[in-house]
Amino acid sequence: MLRLTRRAFSSTPSPRVAVVGSGPGGFYTAKYLLRDSKNVHVTILDRWPTPFGLVRYGVAPDHPEVKSVQDDFEEVATSERFSYAGHVFVGHPADAPSHTGPVVPLNDLMNLYDAVVVATGCDLARKLDLPGAELEGVVNARAFVGWYNAEPTFSHLQLPDVSDQLRSVIIGHGNVALDCARLLAAPSSHLDATDIHSTAFEALQRLPSKRLIHVVGRRGATQAAFTTKEVRELTELENAALVIDPAELEAGDTEASIEEGKARPLKRKRKFLDQVAASTNTAEREVHLRFLRRPVAFEEGAKGRLGAVVFEKCVLEGDVNAQTAVGTGVLESIECDLAVCAVGYTASPPCPDGRRARPQDGPAGTYAQVGSRVAPKLYCSGWVKRGPTGIVGSNVADARETAAAVLEDLAASGVAGYGEGTSWADWRRIDGVEKANARNGAPRAKFSDVEGMLDAAKSS
Ligand code: NAP
Repeated sequence: MLRLTRRAFSSTPSPRVAVVGSGPGGFYTAKYLLRDSKNVHVTILDRWPTPFGLVRYGVAPDHPEVKSVQDDFEEVATSERFSYAGHVFVGHPADAPSHTGPVVPLNDLMNLYDAVVVATGCDLARKLDLPGAELEGVVNARAFVGWYNAEPTFSHLQLPDVSDQLRSVIIGHGNVALDCARLLAAPSSHLDATDIHSTAFEALQRLPSKRLIHVVGRRGATQAAFTTKEVRELTELENAALVIDPAELEAGDTEASIEEGKARPLKRKRKFLDQVAASTNTAEREVHLRFLRRPVAFEEGAKGRLGAVVFEKCVLEGDVNAQTAVGTGVLESIECDLAVCAVGYTASPPCPDGRRARPQDGPAGTYAQVGSRVAPKLYCSGWVKRGPTGIVGSNVADARETAAAVLEDLAASGVAGYGEGTSWADWRRIDGVEKANARNGAPRAKFSDVEGMLDAAKSS
């Protein structure tokens, strides 16, 4: 049905919605805006000339099954009511000094459209503010992931120049940490048929074959954010081994952890980790999964570069689902040439007042909104709405909720609030039903009641 707008009789009769960000949050919102209305036009804007955000620049290249969601987004883009405005930065010009395309402040965009949905994700690395963090060899996962995924901002990252072995430490126990570990441990045969950045592929190939990777979490196995599928992948790489010290695994088994671990996915994960810990794996490339160590400093080594990460051994304290890592004062240095800080992401979304972006008051710097509405005519979707958690598919329910809020407000505001009329396509469907209902030899059997016409308009 055609929803009439206040501009129904002008040259642009349909409500127009801008979605800022073309990752899963943005594209799923566009999908449901287009699906659940018949006349809303959607423009997705993105700072890069190319679409798909996190799917292109965040998902690991050896996870093509996750990237295949792009096919769904390609389908959305075939709608006549969809348009894409790439290479447009939405925000304050000072927040994109090297951007060479158009820069549109968010408040200007809000004046140009009937509604604006911000879906810019959590674009910044959460900082690990420790002594030595500025040393060459310390990088954050945002940069490392951006580098192997060919994100222009990070495409020039350099790996350490080492001759006989690369020793890396990855800080954090989320799936991003495991992605980084897998990319560092993987043989070239694992990556050569992927869309990995060619420079990164060559740099990884040039590294010595011998690699030692420590992936270190501050809490125990039960609290680790990574999922079983991702940790299992570390046991499936050719010429690589996953190593876990059983004593370190068990050190996190407090009464509260045992209670937390009763959830089925955690039981499955623990069973797998126990199996790995019980085996005696060694290989040219080893990934050591370490627990109960919080980072305290980056230590300088030869040539003024990173030489080691210093950790403090921890114990768990606190109630079920609220245990924290408490330092014991015992320190352990892990020597390394590269440290990747994979401790999560934060948001710094554009400000509706047109000023420079800054972390907002919500979790991880997200907008401090309740639900999908940020301000009149301004909405959010994806990680900038709910924080940096969940898989690509988690955006579906989130985007449906945002799209519903936008459509409800458009209707209530009068932008699309004069009720539903019929479109030309609806007439075509009525026409088809009238022709199908015709008596022998008659061209059609005309509806004489409006209800019948409207029912026919809904027929497929
Ligand atoms: P995450 O899941 O939130 O993990 C962050 C990790 O950093 C946690 O282990 C956390 O430990 C640790 N951490 C935070 N602050 C720390 C500090 N100051 N010192 C030491 N450790 C610290 O974040 P993520 O790995 O960036 O992933 C973001 C989201 O993307 C997640 O939902 C993830 O599942 C998803 N993702 C999924 C895939 C996949 O499905 N294959 C791949 C990549 C990402 P605490 O728990 O102790 O805070």
